Formats: sequence, structure tokens, C-alpha cells
Amino acid sequence: MLTTHLLGFPRIGVDRDLKKGVEAYWKGQSSEEALLALGKELRQRHWNLQRDQGIDLIPVGDFSYYDQILDATAMLGAVPERFDWDGDMVGLATYFKMPRGYNGVKAMEMTKWFNTNYHYLVPEFAPGQTFTLSSTKVLDELAEAKAAGLTPKVVLPGPLTYIHIGKETEPGFDRWTHLDAILTVYEEVVQRLAGECDWVQLDEPILVLDLPEAVRERFAPAYERLKKAAGDARVMVASYFGALRENEDVAAKLPVDALHVDLLADPDALDTLAPKLPASMALSVGVVNGRNIWRVKADASVRLVERAVDALGAERVLVAPTCSLLHVPLDLDRETALDPEVRSWMAFAKQKCAEVRLIADAASGQDVTAAMTENETAHQSRANSPAAHNEAVCARVAGVTDDQLRRATPHAQRKQKQQASLNLPLLPTTTIGSFPQTADIRRTRRQFKKGELGQAEYTAAMQAFIKDAVDRQHELDLDVLVHGEPERNDMVEYFGELLDGFCFTSNGWVQSYGSRCVKPPVIYGDVSRPNPMTVDWITYAQSLTDKPMKGMLTGPVTILCWSFVRDDQPRGETCRQIALGIHDEVQDLEKAGVPIIQIDEAALREGLPLRRGDWDTYLEWATDAFRLTTSGVRDETQIHTHMCYSEFNEILLWIARMDADVISIEASRSNMDLLQAFRDYEYPNDIGPGVYDIHSPRVPSEEEVKRLLSLAQEVIAPERLWVNPDCGLKTRDWPETLDALRHMVAAAKDARAAVAAG
Ligand code: GLN
Ligand code: ZN
Repeated sequence: MLTTHLLGFPRIGVDRDLKKGVEAYWKGQSSEEALLALGKELRQRHWNLQRDQGIDLIPVGDFSYYDQILDATAMLGAVPERFDWDGDMVGLATYFKMPRGYNGVKAMEMTKWFNTNYHYLVPEFAPGQTFTLSSTKVLDELAEAKAAGLTPKVVLPGPLTYIHIGKETEPGFDRWTHLDAILTVYEEVVQRLAGECDWVQLDEPILVLDLPEAVRERFAPAYERLKKAAGDARVMVASYFGALRENEDVAAKLPVDALHVDLLADPDALDTLAPKLPASMALSVGVVNGRNIWRVKADASVRLVERAVDALGAERVLVAPTCSLLHVPLDLDRETALDPEVRSWMAFAKQKCAEVRLIADAASGQDVTAAMTENETAHQSRANSPAAHNEAVCARVAGVTDDQLRRATPHAQRKQKQQASLNLPLLPTTTIGSFPQTADIRRTRRQFKKGELGQAEYTAAMQAFIKDAVDRQHELDLDVLVHGEPERNDMVEYFGELLDGFCFTSNGWVQSYGSRCVKPPVIYGDVSRPNPMTVDWITYAQSLTDKPMKGMLTGPVTILCWSFVRDDQPRGETCRQIALGIHDEVQDLEKAGVPIIQIDEAALREGLPLRRGDWDTYLEWATDAFRLTTSGVRDETQIHTHMCYSEFNEILLWIARMDADVISIEASRSNMDLLQAFRDYEYPNDIGPGVYDIHSPRVPSEEEVKRLLSLAQEVIAPERLWVNPDCGLKTRDWPETLDALRHMVAAAKDARAAVAAG
């Protein structure tokens, strides 16, 4: 029988129990003991579930009250100095200070975990920093699992990944100088764990990145030390989120007992990898996708495992999902409201455990015919279902011509016509789309959703919110107005609900960071737009003003990136379908007389593949999708886009290729640092670098905005410069928003006058 295991499991609980528990503790509504008891209960519940679904080695250490990288920071005693830690064991109070900040002390930075939508706390490395074992959490949890009679495998972030994904606190300092000290703590931990369990898994997902040679060279010696510390216990190094490619030799030469690889990322990797593995090394094959919510193709995965067994022998093969199941919701059985047919194509974490068992059993020659047939039937149903397939959409996608991927005339020409009809002042002021989502607004949406409010009442209430936003913008004397987005709970979910091919789970929560969870829409079929989605709201808003109203849409790449995407066709294909739907909306807005249309692509950058060599392919279809949404509009119609980050340099040429007439971007938090990119490359169209940070309630002064505007003018000619905040204002309150925008408009007017005066 082949051994099954998981790399990790979701920890929030089926009802987001952990989120609720942690937040109650933060608010002082529950005690530390209560939170610790909840953690214990969740661990037990999830361990038992995994065991009951047929998982042999149960991961321990993957549970976290906030983030597993933060747990490693606590374990290593790597608490940054500003948190005034006494150097004793890191308790919950200190632990939560790091991601949340306290008394004005800045929280640790958070960033995306590889190419997932999970965010980890970025480790900080300072000169002179010391490391000592400062949390026994993983040891305690191991004892707990053993007491529960389970067969545990301890899971920890690998030391090299931990250092690689961190950052130095001072320029010029090399964080790798701490490697030896960090390894010393790891040796101690591994040694203590090894006395208590048979398996220690160290996650080194950086093995799927383009790695500098200096980092690759550190693997063998580091693992030499850890293997020695492990004594009789077996050490597994786990790679995931992609293929090893040129790091294959580094991985195969590790002096450890097992290597985990994502075989779905590169099924042929077995051919080159297997012969390289020493006889002492086992291979854990990731053959169930840990990132999507679809059922495994059982027969294909069984064949992969069989190939591994043929090459290595059954005793050297373990079967697992490709990565931790942290990235999928917990239990599909709870989704009773889903269309049963669509549900039959899906698998969440619990179901994926059973899939791993099924594949292992089938590959060990057990009779699992009934389950294999059932899996095949579900795939047949999915392949042939009219719910998932729309011939008209496929034909339309196939028929897209090059002309549909560009606007008819170059920007310079369009700009003249737009100026003639819009008649905007120099340095026009605008906002990014949303205005404060007051309790009133949220309550109205909720009541409508629950059926407590009829359509007519809802429309009237929303129109009142829109009118309020428009009135306030008049008062502020902004130049280009927006309707304020009161009808949208979320910039992707709103459109997903109105597009065909999407469905929504009732409980499909996935941890995004800390206690924050998201419930991504599911794209299960060909996407199309049956009816206009925003036209009524925008035209109502336009009817209230003589100033230009900006229609607001979410772009195809962002909708794609923030959804669970189908796995039966390339992402680029699905993206193009969404783009055609948005294209239709753009056309309808234009027909309705909306002069300016903004298509947000907040996720364009985060969709970048992990390997640089794969970037261009992605960027080409991603920017093509945007171009498809805007082709066919009149020269007079001004297209805007928005991106909420400032690390642009590497993809600026591609952003220019999107050919939006105006782009608004985040810039104030970095003090306009991003402008360097525009210094190096003359961006051809108009730009609105954000002049105030919307992430905090702090109101920028007029002077501050003026200073940022003059920095911007050093690089961007006033004829091409727009004035706007960094991002949407939905998380802010009205009073601070009004003050900030008042200062912004005053600063713009001032700068305008200065330009006029020469
Ligand atoms: N138009 C959206 C808003 O203003 C954009 C949000 C975003 O870029 N994240 O809220
Ligand atoms: Zn934004």
C-alpha cells in the first residue's frame, strides 16, 4: 500500500471559527485560554477528518493563529526590535503585535505568498540580530497529535525559503549572513522533534523559482546539517507551486530522505528526476491540485503514480496533493445550494483527501473500480454539460481578429478629440471609483439580498446614495465624477454575479491573511454577459451632472485572478471570454452616452508567473484581453485604467501596450518613487500618480499634495498629468474623505495656476 500524506490543511474551520475566535480575542471579548482551546479543538477536528478520509501521515505544525511564516519568526525568536519583546518565550500577545502593530509601532509588512492570494508576514533581518528557540508551539502540537493517537509528520517552513522571502532592515546588509545562526535553531528544533516523530517536512517552495546560484549552493550544506540533527527521523523537503526545472539537480542531490514535487506542474519531470534520485531518497508525488476546487482527473493521476512506482518501487513513493490545501475551502458537502451538477465536478480540502487515498489505492492495485468510474462519470458530465459550454461564446472567441485587439487611432489623435469634447482643465481631478461604504449602504444591500427590500425600493435607495456622492463631488469641484459604487460589495463578485459561467459558494472561504478570508467566485463554464451590468447606475449618475461621469468596470485579468478558474482550458482563453463580456458592457456604456470608462486591472501584476521566462506569454494575453475590452470605442471616448501598486518598472512597457488613455496608479505611499520608472521610459499616454494614501484615515494637507504634484511634474508634463488618490475610498469615512479631497482639489488648482503663470 502506498503511503498518503498532506503538506498542510486549511485551519480556519468550516464556519470560519478561527477568524471569529481570533477577532473576539483581539476585541477583548474572549480570553487567551478560550482562543488556545479553540485552536486545539480545530486541530483535533481537522486531524481526525484527514485520518478518516484515508490520510496516513497527518501534518502537524501547519496550524497557525495567523500565519505559518510568522510562527517560524516566533520559533526563531526573530521578533523585530521595535516590538519591545522581552526575549522570553513568544506568547500570543507578542505574536499578534507583529502583524497588527501596537501603540503606533508599525506592523510587519505583509506580502503575497508566491503566486497565491495568501499573504505572509515578511521576515525582517537586521545586523546583529540573534536567534534562539523562542516558541515551542510546534513541539506542543506534536505532543498533542501523538496523544490523540495519530501518526504525525511535522511541517515547518524551510530555513532557506524563510530567509529568501524575507528582507533586510538596512540597505547594504546581507540577510544570508544569519543563515548559520538560523540553522542552529533549526537543528535544535529538528533534533527535539525527531525524538518524537518519524517525519519532519521542511517546505522549500523557492525551489520552483529562478534562484541565484549563491542560494542554490546553500541547499546541500544546510540540509547536511538538518539531516544530521534529525537522527533516525526522516526528513522530507517539499517543493510546490511549480516545476523544479533547472533546480532539479539541487533538489535531487539534497541529503534527505524524501523530496516532494508538484507533478501536475510538469508531469514529464519524472523522466528526468527519478533517475537522479539516490536509492535512499523517496519521492512524494503531488498529483491532486491543491490550488483549485475541481475534482482530480483520477485516471491520469493514477498513471503518474504508477510511473513513479515503476521507476522507484512502491516503498519509495508517497502520494499527496501538489501543495498545502490551505488554498482551497474546507468541505464541499456544505454547499447544498450549489447546482448539483456543477457541484459534482468539484472537490474541496476534505474531498481532496479522499482523492489522494483513491489514487494511492488504485496505484497499489486495489479494487477501487466503483470510485474510479464515479470520478470518470463526473468528468464526462463536465465535458458535455450544456451548463459549462456555450458554442456561441467559443465561436466568438475563436473569431477575434487583430483589429479587435486595438483602438482605431493612436492615443495622440484620440486625445485631441477627447479634449475637444470633454474640455477638461489642465491637471484634471478625479477619484478611483468607490466612495465610503457607509453602514447604511451595506445594510441596504444586505436587506435587498435577503429579500427584505423590493427591487424598486432598493433602486431608489441606491440612487439616493449615488446622488449624495455626486452632490458631494460637485461641492468639492472635482472635474471627472464617479457614481461611487454603492451597489458593489466587491469589485469582482459584483460582475461575477451578473456574468454567465460563474457560480458562488455559500461557505467556500479561503484564508487571505490573518483573520481575513475571501470567498472567490467560481468560473465553471464559458463566460458571457447576458445583460448590461452597470449602465443603469452610471446613466442615472450622469443625469445628475453636466460634468463628465466616469463609468466603472473591473477588468478581465482581475476578474480571472480573483476567482477560482476552470482547469479544463487555458487561463488565457477564459480571460478572453471575460474580456468579450466587458467589451459588450463598454459598448453599451458608450451608447448610453458615458464619455469616460475606467476598467480596473488591480491584479495585472499579481498574475505574473513565478518564473521570469514565463512572463511574456502571460503579459501578452493579459494585455490583449484589456485591449479587447476597449477596441471599437469611438476616439472621443476616454478609456482609463487603474492599478493599485507602484512596482511598475519591470512591466511598464506592457502597461503602455494596454493603451489606456489615462492610467491611475498608487504612488503616494512610496513618495512618488515609482516616477523613476517614468523617467527611464517615456510613457506615451496620460498618468495620474496617486497623491494621497487611502489606506489610512490620515488626511494629507494641501501642502503635502502640492509637494507630491510638483515631484510628479518633474517627470510628467502637465498636459499628461491627472490628480487623484491612490485607490478607491470605500474603506474610508466621509469626513476624512471630504477633507482629503478638498485639499487635493485645492492643490490641483494651485498647480494649474502656477503652470498657467509659466
Ligand atoms: N474602482 C475600484 C474602487 O474604487 C478600484 C478598487 C481597486 O483597485 N482595488 O474601489
Ligand atoms: Zn486600487
